[in-house]
Amino acid sequence: MPAISSNKPYRVGRSRTGLGLFATKPIKKGTKIIRYFGPLLDSKKKKDDAIENKYLFELNGRWTIDGSVRENVARYINHACKPNAESDVKPRKRKVFIRAIKKIEPGEEINYDYGTDYFKAYLKPIGCKCAACEKKHKKKRAEARAERLRLKAKAEWKAQKEAEKRKAKASKAGAKSKAESQAKQKLNGKTNGAKLNGHSLNGHASKILTARSGISARPRPRQGRESRASA
Ligand SMILES: [Zn+2]
Repeated sequence: MPAISSNKPYRVGRSRTGLGLFATKPIKKGTKIIRYFGPLLDSKKKKDDAIENKYLFELNGRWTIDGSVRENVARYINHACKPNAESDVKPRKRKVFIRAIKKIEPGEEINYDYGTDYFKAYLKPIGCKCAACEKKHKKKRAEARAERLRLKAKAEWKAQKEAEKRKAKASKAGAKSKAESQAKQKLNGKTNGAKLNGHSLNGHASKILTARSGISARPRPRQGRESRASA
């Protein structure tokens, strides 16, 4: 296993959740990157057991590393659900190393899985913001957006269809009332026809005018009247 000594392959930098540890050189798979260290807390001691912070690393039932000390640069390493490193715990030596589990490229953030307990206690309540989870959230958001657009388009299409239906119904009803008025006129034609007969020239003139002006709704009743008149 290649060891990292003086020439550190990492630096602290800005990550999506605050600060993080980033590779500055290619790190080979299996490399011990950094040691996670701090005072050892003994759970049998009341004073030790009372200490509570986000950087406690439990080695076993008794010993816990308090990684909240400033010198522990490994505390900057963020959690990831699909990490590129892991915590290599040596309970007997009471030591923890962070080790690459795949090749890490310069600029890449170094992550390891903090484990189920930490995840449940600290990450699940606020939502994990690791790259894998963000990708999942992004995908879900995109899917939700696409679904909203699909539903909107569907509603619009439906509304349009209904408007067309209403229009068709209205024009049908209009045609019906026209036909009815036509029929009425036919009925009244006998009495009106005599009057119209005298103005048949006028009737023709206005028909030409309306035909020119493109009003299609008007000539029909006149046609009825006319045919009635000519019959
Ligand atoms: Zn995650």
